Amino acid sequence: MDMIRQYELVEKIRAYNPKADVGLINRAYVYSMKAHGNQKRASGQPYLVHPLAVAGILADLQLDDASIAVGLLHDTLEDTLSTYDEIKGLFGAEVAELTEGVTKLSKISFEDKATEQAENFRKLLLAMSKDIRVLLIKLADRLHNMRTLGAKGSESQKKTARETLDIYAPLADRIGLHVIKAELEDLAFKVLEPDEYGMIARKMAEWRAQDDLVPRVMGALQMELKKAGIEAEVSGREKAIYSIYQKMVKKSLAFDQLTDIVAYRVVVPDKRGCYEVLGMLHDRFKAIPGRFKDYISAPKPNGYQSLHTSVVGPFGNRMEVQIRTREMHDVAENGVAAHWLYKPAKDGEAASGKLVSGEVQAREAAPYRWLKSLVEQLQGVDDPAEFYENAKLELFSDNVFAFTPKGDVIQLPRGATPLDFAYAVHSNLGNKTVSAKVNGSVVPLRRALANGDMVEIVTSPNQHPNPGWRELVVSSRARSAINRYLRQQEQAELTKLGREILEKAAKRDGWKWDINALQAVLKKIPVHQVANVDDVFAALGQGRLFPRQIHDLLFPTAGAPRADEGKLVPPKRKKAAKGAKPGADEQVSKEDSIALEGVMEGMAVHYARCCSPLPGEEIVGIISTGRGISIHMRTCRNLEQFAEQPDRWLPVAWSQAALHGDLRKFVCRLRFHVKSDHGALATITSTIANSDANIIEIASEQRNVDAMSIRCEIEIRNKEHLNKLISQLSALKVMLSVEKIYGWN
Ligand code: MN
Repeated sequence: MDMIRQYELVEKIRAYNPKADVGLINRAYVYSMKAHGNQKRASGQPYLVHPLAVAGILADLQLDDASIAVGLLHDTLEDTLSTYDEIKGLFGAEVAELTEGVTKLSKISFEDKATEQAENFRKLLLAMSKDIRVLLIKLADRLHNMRTLGAKGSESQKKTARETLDIYAPLADRIGLHVIKAELEDLAFKVLEPDEYGMIARKMAEWRAQDDLVPRVMGALQMELKKAGIEAEVSGREKAIYSIYQKMVKKSLAFDQLTDIVAYRVVVPDKRGCYEVLGMLHDRFKAIPGRFKDYISAPKPNGYQSLHTSVVGPFGNRMEVQIRTREMHDVAENGVAAHWLYKPAKDGEAASGKLVSGEVQAREAAPYRWLKSLVEQLQGVDDPAEFYENAKLELFSDNVFAFTPKGDVIQLPRGATPLDFAYAVHSNLGNKTVSAKVNGSVVPLRRALANGDMVEIVTSPNQHPNPGWRELVVSSRARSAINRYLRQQEQAELTKLGREILEKAAKRDGWKWDINALQAVLKKIPVHQVANVDDVFAALGQGRLFPRQIHDLLFPTAGAPRADEGKLVPPKRKKAAKGAKPGADEQVSKEDSIALEGVMEGMAVHYARCCSPLPGEEIVGIISTGRGISIHMRTCRNLEQFAEQPDRWLPVAWSQAALHGDLRKFVCRLRFHVKSDHGALATITSTIANSDANIIEIASEQRNVDAMSIRCEIEIRNKEHLNKLISQLSALKVMLSVEKIYGWN
């Protein structure tokens, strides 16, 4: 372990603060050395290594002299014979108070009983609220302890890591110390989940070794910026391991599915430059819809500012780019600490490292406001437990707390819906959820819950999860319960479907099969993972296996069956509407029968996103691998790829209910070109809402001085409903054109 030396510390401080009070730093160093004497760290190194390292971290944050001196002194009150008065006498009240604040903070343990925890939390906030530097120093202390955690016993490591992940990383995040937060999280994660940590670290190393994509992308970006005459610095930074892990868990993604392992940054001299870079990027590369965020005109609560966009990059890679000024960058990296960047004192004031009054105001800017409001709350509260709950809600704002009708608290991730709530209570409750009441009124299942909501779940024994539910939940618990149910369901459906496909093909072509015959050829089935007859059916249902192959196994000498299997068999709609159901005794499940005719019982129906068919449009069903059946428009270009697989074509037709517009559930995508006008978006959304269509997503694609292009995904009843909506939209003053689009890109 490299250790920083006293003269290196002084050099580091002088580099950003030439007028630093070196005398103060040196006196603090000598005092700390004397006070700690022969004390050793768990690693066997002299204790002084630790306060020096903490002071070094604070110097990296470019903090003022007092903070760095306290970094050197921070353990003296606790671990040595030093006293507050002695420190005050030698270094002044500011240093003594900060040292005492850090000491108090260090004594707080978050492991105790709930009431003590509440009291301790209150102490923590009080200590921090007097001077936020107390927290900065405490975080530097924790960071160095985490970096050197290896020397401790494994129980003690786990305890410290847990506390770091639960308390200190969120605090660092809250005050915008993102770099420190990420390192704290990774260090803690490594201790708590060594296997997961190792897996992601390995994948990262493999990914890094794959090609030199990052430098190539950076080179290409630099080139484009140069061509556009924009002065800018380009960098690419890998996401931290813990945040990759969280993303994988939250979105149920495998490592290989992640598209944003690296965030590219473009730093420009001024705000105008940010928008110039954005314009250039959207001009040269295809923007990915729904990903643009303007945190410059609307900063995050902790003061963060940047433009974010995602584009398809120069090598076909999807990439996220963050655009900001140098100042925004400093705040993004170091949050509140960036407001402490040293500026030399004005003439006449001592160059002691104290901040001048103008800067005191800057300190009280956005990142500090949440703390102030917490402290204000704190003053009016008698019950520490109640305060703790409220404060925790504010501080750890990734969570929402809702209540059951009996008053039990359910903790959910932010953005959670009533369906997440139901699954958090019990997966059986989730699976049977039909609707929900929040605080007494019925709400849509996609509504995000707020803190304190009382949620009542209405169930039905006939209810089952469907694939659309995955879009309604944010918690990994709900998502995996839904996926588990769907997988089981799908397996059963595929088995049934495969059997029907085989039956249908055999009947059509005039040959016979039975279970025993299938059993006899089981070993010869030319697909993987076929252990029994049900697996054979499932493979048929998935389209991994075709009846023709079964025929050839059962009748090795018979030649091709009668029907021309190679020929496209396009469904005939009229026939489909009536007698085309396979097998006269088949029953159609209730759900599917609502929208479609010609669909077999238990078949999972999926409306293809490539063409998003609407009732009234000509359709065909394609039996698709692992998904049941996909409904496409008859004119969909993607149908060509199934031309050689007639067994996968299924004649289907819209039901009367769907054609009459009784169902409002079909997804349709539109693109508008509108005049750039402040009210344009609002006019469009209210027109859509008034026409009784649901907006699922809306995103602006391109925008210039006089026109912009907007994409929108809506839920609608049928083709007629859409046509009516399009004519209403076309009549709007701001509207230049409207079109239905196929796919997002
Ligand atoms: Mn310490």
